[in-house]
Amino acid sequence: MRKNHQMPDDDLVFLAYADLSGHVRGRAVPGRRYPTTVGWVPADQSITPFGSLGEMNPYGPLGDLRLIPDESAHIRADRLGATAFDVVLCDAVKPDGQPFAACPRAALRAAIERLAEQHRLEVKAAFEHEFTMLDAAGTEAAPLPAFSLQAQRSAEPFGSDLVRCMNSAGLEPENWLAEFAPGQFEITVTPANALRAADRASLVREIVRDVARVHQRAVTFSPMTSIGGVGNGVHVHLSLHTGNGKPVTHDRHDTDGLSRQARAFFSGIIRHLPALVALTAPSAISYLRLMPHRWSAAFTASGLRNREAALRICPGATPAGWNIEFRAADATACPHLVLAALIHAGCQGLDEGLDELRLLPGDPNAMSGDDLAAMGVVRLPTSLPEALDAFGDDGVARRWFDPLLIETYLEMKHTELTELADLSDAARIARYRAVY
Ligand code: GLU
Ligand code: MG
Repeated sequence: MRKNHQMPDDDLVFLAYADLSGHVRGRAVPGRRYPTTVGWVPADQSITPFGSLGEMNPYGPLGDLRLIPDESAHIRADRLGATAFDVVLCDAVKPDGQPFAACPRAALRAAIERLAEQHRLEVKAAFEHEFTMLDAAGTEAAPLPAFSLQAQRSAEPFGSDLVRCMNSAGLEPENWLAEFAPGQFEITVTPANALRAADRASLVREIVRDVARVHQRAVTFSPMTSIGGVGNGVHVHLSLHTGNGKPVTHDRHDTDGLSRQARAFFSGIIRHLPALVALTAPSAISYLRLMPHRWSAAFTASGLRNREAALRICPGATPAGWNIEFRAADATACPHLVLAALIHAGCQGLDEGLDELRLLPGDPNAMSGDDLAAMGVVRLPTSLPEALDAFGDDGVARRWFDPLLIETYLEMKHTELTELADLSDAARIARYRAVY
């Protein structure tokens, strides 16, 4: 991703780890010492979004890791305030050089390999991020017309600077828009292979935060920013390709325009969706967003151009343009874990030759419970504890991940829930708003 490889000796390079909580942590070295590796602590993966460490975490004070920079995930944006934004994502390895089993990047690599080895397929993906711009007092902007030019101009020169920085860092921004809600914006990037797409998602969040900091603004990617407000989603556009790059999502002979492989892959996602949301919408307030009538995803449903469906089929003008949008994710999730989970679920669908996609005829909220049930559509979990239970109950989904990763993740999520136990929804939203 990196375009500018000259590195002034005194600039800091941040060796970053995109962890299970969705935060990017790490440490910096002076440019003159780079390239290098740095030491890391296994228990980092057990730190909750709010910074506490559960007593039952699998590591305690023991163990060492090393962060190994991946140059293909190295970005540098110059002219960003007084210092450059120079960040490289890393893989975590054990002292013997073997991958750390709870590393989300390793989990994604394993999913990509499974799809390539078993089905000779690759996923291309693009993450769309919605976020809310806050003023110095931490409140949302005054309402301006949704999607309007004046709403977009209200964010200048932040918007232009963001797109410039993303371009210079090779993050390939595509659209920058004022979204529906007051102060809500969206940034999209071009599709890329799965590892790069997840890397970009982690880096996009950080560069948005940093450009905002330089412009003395604050942003939050929290899935909800107020009770009853509009949610901030992370939508993941997915398409399937053969190993030599031929797009295979679309088949013009199919009534829904989908290939046999796409039908099987996305059937797998729908079948395992109640478990998957424990990884893709993993905060206590994610379930205030995943509700009916919010254009997010409240059901295990798919639909053509349907924004109430968890999977929105997006036809393209060309076969390469066809893709399917997964809408049940938000920025409290680790992007690598999101894509690993989606690819494994898709592989499972391919392994079993599933053909269970039944596209909704319209808004699921306008359909009777019986009609939804006849299509195999069920309500998604309505809280994080329910989602974690669904994940625990899905013996197939659990096998997609290393037991250490699952143990680490579930313990961290239970600690997070304990921290929020006595809080109202409004107070919970305030906690997430502050850290995402
Ligand atoms: N803000 C909606 C969400 O929570 C998505 C709106 C859209 O379709 O862009 O996912
Ligand atoms: Mg949007």
